[in-house]
Amino acid sequence: MNTKTKTTNVATFSRATLPITCPACSASLGTIDVQNLSQRRAWGIAISSLDIEAPDDPALTAEAGLIRGACPSCDAELAAFWVTFKRDHGADRADEPQSPSLSLALHGEAYAGWAMIETHEGGVDCIEHLFGPVADERAEEAFEYVRDFMTDLPRPEAD
Ligand SMILES: [Zn+2]
Repeated sequence: MNTKTKTTNVATFSRATLPITCPACSASLGTIDVQNLSQRRAWGIAISSLDIEAPDDPALTAEAGLIRGACPSCDAELAAFWVTFKRDHGADRADEPQSPSLSLALHGEAYAGWAMIETHEGGVDCIEHLFGPVADERAEEAFEYVRDFMTDLPRPEAD
């Protein structure tokens, strides 16, 4: 508790885009594009929230959610999920716009890499970790994997 050690268990690789592909047939479901981030959930039909433990740091908020949809090529029912950490720096930082960034993230415990999206808006630093898609029936299992290394996921640092 209360250590300042930064996580070293997650490796990140900067990317301009990352493909979203069907795990069953490899068809494209879209692209995660740092210039057009709203497209990252476009393949989904339904979005719901997932329960997640609050971070140890009270200045951080955490949210998790699930995207469900189907592959237009093979009709496989698919799900992806995300974990988001936000840190509000207050109004004094609100007028420092910064471009979002996108990375491929990898962890030794993960079944696959995932997309890490960092945004800075209105004084709020946000890091979203977007996993999947996976077959819908595997989504719960995949989220349990992520719970095992949740504390390793990068999150916005304090100043
Ligand atoms: Zn498919």
